[in-house]
Amino acid sequence: MLKIYNTLHHRKEEFKPLNAKEVTCYCCGPTVYNFAHIGNLRTYIFEDLLMRTLRYCIPVKHMMNITDVGHLTSDADAGEDKLALASEKEGKSAWEIAKFYENKFFEDFDSLNCKRPNIVARATEHIPAMINLVKTLEDKGYTYRTSDGIYYDTSKFADYGILMNKAHLEGLKTGARVDFGEKKNATDFALWKFSPSDKKRQMEWESPWGIGFPGWHIECSAMAMQYLGETLDIHCGGIDHVAIHHTNEISQAEAATGKQYVRYWIHGEFLVMSAGKMSKSAGTFVTIDTLKEKGYSPLDYRYLCLGAHYRTQLEFSYDSLDFAQKSRQSLKSKIANIKKLANGESGETEILKEAKNNFVSAMEDDLNTSKALSLLWDFVKGEANAEEKIAFVKFADDFLGLNLLEEDRKEISEEAKAILAERAEARKQKDFKKSDELRAKLLAMGIVVKDTPRGQEY
Ligand code: AMP
Ligand code: ZN
Repeated sequence: MLKIYNTLHHRKEEFKPLNAKEVTCYCCGPTVYNFAHIGNLRTYIFEDLLMRTLRYCIPVKHMMNITDVGHLTSDADAGEDKLALASEKEGKSAWEIAKFYENKFFEDFDSLNCKRPNIVARATEHIPAMINLVKTLEDKGYTYRTSDGIYYDTSKFADYGILMNKAHLEGLKTGARVDFGEKKNATDFALWKFSPSDKKRQMEWESPWGIGFPGWHIECSAMAMQYLGETLDIHCGGIDHVAIHHTNEISQAEAATGKQYVRYWIHGEFLVMSAGKMSKSAGTFVTIDTLKEKGYSPLDYRYLCLGAHYRTQLEFSYDSLDFAQKSRQSLKSKIANIKKLANGESGETEILKEAKNNFVSAMEDDLNTSKALSLLWDFVKGEANAEEKIAFVKFADDFLGLNLLEEDRKEISEEAKAILAERAEARKQKDFKKSDELRAKLLAMGIVVKDTPRGQEY
């Protein structure tokens, strides 16, 4: 079974699910006001590795939210709604912004071979659950009203800040003492924000307290509990969520239910640029499209992430990405050569069994991906026969998700994409003459199209 670092107890623990038949896991999803940068995506890669490792032993109900309202420019509830700002900047509605960046997010997510969650929940589609949770907190005496919203009183929750060490918590309380307006305590946070009286917001809803929108923290707790129950096995996110977002989630959820909210809190460290933290708001970030334009496959980036432990900071550089690209290509070409020699499938031989056990032990030791990768390299270069090697690569790649046995898809231009779409339509209309002409046109562009039962492939 998996051993994993639980931020709640600041130590590595054996993972034991509440229900032996299925694990429940909630991962904080993207705020869809801009492209995801490769730092954000490092967190989704680590979560994907966790899901794949858990699923080796037990089914997982994996849920992710889409934050399409309520995340303000400062995590501590100050500033403006990130979506409203993007809407002003791009001259599109907040709804269009959310849809566009959500689609783009999943395109990047898929290109990195991250498996889609079983449940994806948009905040804007779950407002009643959020209002209900705020009502419960109000009935239990945890809330108060200011001129701009309904706030949670953190001083009423004895265990506030248990995810952090004491010094960090004290720093948060005193550091923010400068000016916290009408809030009673620096750490209090908004559960429901009122729309401004002089302006109609694009995203706003009726509530028992007035027209407005939910706070970011209440969104995750309300949706997680709606789908996964009041006590979750796992809740994941990036390390930046420990101090505010997840701390607030614990206090509001446990105050409302009187039960433990999450049993294992698991956090991924940051990807940093040599200049410091990567941030969307600073406008200096690298996306998967940036990498593709420079000739890298998204899976080169995945390989780079696998080389570092998820709980250590990873400093991004194009030199290290070059190295990851070369290593992945060299591994793939070794595997392709072995594949040519393999004759049928390998049985479950001793050597194969032992290699699989060692590999699983590395993954189950707090996701030791760099060790798992080196075990894979050793096996591919080692004494086993070709059939055993291919069987092992298949097994390992179910965890690692590097497409080691497939040819990489070629990145194609927008023009070629349009021709492919036109050809798919021609085939649908049974216009085979046109479809052949378009195939020839694609071939002239270096793209070989095959028609398969799944449709055209290139
Ligand atoms: P956001 O879209 O800003 O809500 O963030 C989505 C996810 O990315 C969250 O789990 C964050 O904790 C995580 N995240 C943000 N910046 C980084 C970074 N530089 N490296 C790794 N994860 C990050
Ligand atoms: Zn969240």
